[in-house]
Amino acid sequence: MQFRDIVGQNEVKKHLLRTVQENRISHAQLFLGPEGSGSLPIALAYAQYISCQNRQVDDSCGECASCRKYQKLIHPDLHFSYPFFAKHKEDTALTFLNAWREAFLANPYLGLDEWRSQLDAENKQANINIAECHQIIQKLSLKPFESEYKVLIMWLPEYLDKEGNTLLKIIEEPPQKTLFLLVAQNQDQILNTILSRTQLVKVNRLTDEDIRDYLVKTHHVDAGRAMQIAYLSDGNLQTARNLYREDANNNFELFSNWLRLCFGNKVSQLTDYVETLAKMGRENQKDFLRYGIHFIRECILILSGAEKLVRLPSAEREVAINFSAKVLKLNQADAIISELEKAHYHIERNANPKILFLDVSLQLIKILKFNTLRQTADSIILQ
Ligand SMILES: [Zn+2]
Repeated sequence: MQFRDIVGQNEVKKHLLRTVQENRISHAQLFLGPEGSGSLPIALAYAQYISCQNRQVDDSCGECASCRKYQKLIHPDLHFSYPFFAKHKEDTALTFLNAWREAFLANPYLGLDEWRSQLDAENKQANINIAECHQIIQKLSLKPFESEYKVLIMWLPEYLDKEGNTLLKIIEEPPQKTLFLLVAQNQDQILNTILSRTQLVKVNRLTDEDIRDYLVKTHHVDAGRAMQIAYLSDGNLQTARNLYREDANNNFELFSNWLRLCFGNKVSQLTDYVETLAKMGRENQKDFLRYGIHFIRECILILSGAEKLVRLPSAEREVAINFSAKVLKLNQADAIISELEKAHYHIERNANPKILFLDVSLQLIKILKFNTLRQTADSIILQ
């Protein structure tokens, strides 16, 4: 995790960089920020920066041996502790390390609910138990293997049992070159004894503009819709990603059904369908069209033999592969994209959506049918 991967939070980044450059790294720090603000990835980017062998002014290099191990969360001097759902009293965070790596790498902004769903924990109580505290003490008593510093990142110390006090001594007088980075959401729920021994790094909720820019840049969401999502997300990037995913799911349903009707030349059903599309509102229509363009572009990758590069969730991917294998040809894909782009242009300029979507539907029928006819003709000639 590098600082450049973190959404927003420029002040915190600057502050942390300064502590390293001025050699004022405090050995126990509490990163306090609401869920989805990025406090966990920030703590990790900080640890990676400290450990980097080729530190740049404003970020770790991302390429040295240390960075490469950090990026996979497999550096021997990087330890994680987090709440888990113990099945046995001797379970520790290590028992769940593979699941943790997978969950974090898939989504560094994950919240406890998502982590719980990864672990299939049902209604069990999450906690950081006494066995884990003992293991932390043991791990940190070892000398660093490869780096100057050993780092322990503890996510959600709110879930430390009261036995967490076992850690006080090691937090207060840690072995040399040991860093405790605690990443918490609720100051009130942390053991006071631990709170008083850490230096606070406050991480604010993300601004609406940060979330909007992230959605526009990373997911190509229209700026207007991105702002709506940002507003609903209340500074939580995880919520924003979920809302965006819901949009994408709806668009996938709508778009794949539309394609099926056009390919099947179902004109009467299409008339009803156009009514549905026309009622969605302009922003959603633009989103829908952009999704369609994205989907067909992914089909082009498949048609060009670059299936590995396709970035679609599995259900969508399957439909794209099927559609590309059975129906779509490259020239059709290009023609469809050009129709969708034209439609997007006209929707932005307040075209009547009903007339527009009906017209685009007829164009898609033509594009898909024309080629199908030609394929049939080709196969007759070839016979
Ligand atoms: Zn590096």
